[in-house]
Amino acid sequence: MSGMERTTDEWQRIDVEHHLHPFTDPRYFDKKAPLIVTRADGMHVWDSSGRQILDGMAGLWCVNVGYGRKELIEAANRQMSTLAYYNVFFQSATPPQIELSRLLAEVTPEGLDHIFFANSGSEANDTIIRMVRHFWEVQGQPDKHVFIGRKLGYHGSTVAATSLGGMQNMHAMGRSLLPGFEHIMHPHWYLEGGDMDPDEFGLKAARALEDKILELGADNVAAFIGEPIQGAGGVIDAPRTYWPEIERICRKYDVLLVVDEVICGFGRTGEWFGCQTYGVMPDLMPMAKGLSSGYLPIAAVAYNERVHKVLKDGGLFSHGYTYSGHPVACAVAIANIDLIRRDKLVERVRDDVGPYFHDRLKAAVGDHPLVGEVRGKGLLAGVQLVKDRDSRTLFDTADNVAMRVRDLCLERGLIMRAVGQSMVASPALIVKRAQIDEMADILADSLNAAAREFG
Ligand code: PLP
Repeated sequence: MSGMERTTDEWQRIDVEHHLHPFTDPRYFDKKAPLIVTRADGMHVWDSSGRQILDGMAGLWCVNVGYGRKELIEAANRQMSTLAYYNVFFQSATPPQIELSRLLAEVTPEGLDHIFFANSGSEANDTIIRMVRHFWEVQGQPDKHVFIGRKLGYHGSTVAATSLGGMQNMHAMGRSLLPGFEHIMHPHWYLEGGDMDPDEFGLKAARALEDKILELGADNVAAFIGEPIQGAGGVIDAPRTYWPEIERICRKYDVLLVVDEVICGFGRTGEWFGCQTYGVMPDLMPMAKGLSSGYLPIAAVAYNERVHKVLKDGGLFSHGYTYSGHPVACAVAIANIDLIRRDKLVERVRDDVGPYFHDRLKAAVGDHPLVGEVRGKGLLAGVQLVKDRDSRTLFDTADNVAMRVRDLCLERGLIMRAVGQSMVASPALIVKRAQIDEMADILADSLNAAAREFG
């Protein structure tokens, strides 16, 4: 039996018995059953009981064009029947991979004209670690190998990507912090800025990079990596002074600048890429998620002419994945980018739904006693939960307030995600104003219910 027609109880029982959920405490299922999602369309998913739920997270920050888009489905079907697989190792190439390389060179910021393909954001970042260290080795500077990331940064969960990121719980599991990775403070003004004004704090947070480079010696530092907005850290957007100062410091000490666009890329912040929202120019840029709107796994690294020239001089590039440049995934990514362009989704986020989303969230929950800050850009928002607004005091982590608010939202038909003590949202770029209203109202109602429980 294929198992596609079981009852919800059966699915839940089998899932708990045989499947380990990523980033989940398995004991959760001693008390609650997993949500079984059976279909999706537009902005909604349906669970196995037939209940319709508004997806405020676009899956895992990835379904930028919404669910069920026939253009992507047809592209996959067509490519699957023409050439379901061939690799791009050695001296081979395929038309979808060639066409997507060209298209990515066109939509990424000017100067990032060279592309390497992977299957996930983690793999893209692993690629960057090997590529950047190779870049310095080829130039006779093998000591320039240390990567500097940030506290609460997230760059994936392979061992190397875990090391790039600044999540302490991830480092602690399985001795996953490799040597050669350092982390500096993250630019969260609300919780770290104290009495400083945001611009002054932005400069201070950026200068932690300079201090770290001087401590390690610039001759040992290969690259700095950061997400334009820290997504999995709780949607933390830096003050406007931060990124230009980071770029200045990287240039001064000849440290490569890697901007991780896995969440922010493909329109989420109201520009094609988050680095454009903040006015910085990376040397290398990993992308995934919105590249195919999650319809198939695919990731890419875009890099500039300087890196390209050195890689060319470096000879054999001993790196790659069986599914690098998978033709079906590339065909879907092309259809996805065409759709984002045709429907002007980036402009829509910048000029219409992005500002509306933040105005509406602020109006609905900005003054709520449990809310300290509503932050983010475009269709990316973080709502900081606090026990006391005046002193910016957080709840005890054991209270699990954000998880409770998440559950209350789900009971009311909305998927939002709890990250630490923040609620985060990243709806698809096709979200309608009425659906933003619904999100804001359900969140406010859930916060009221939580305030009664935790007040
Ligand atoms: N980089 C960032 C900024 C991410 O948010 C993520 C995933 O959420 C990753 C990398 C890892 O991507 P993946 O889960 O596809 O490996």
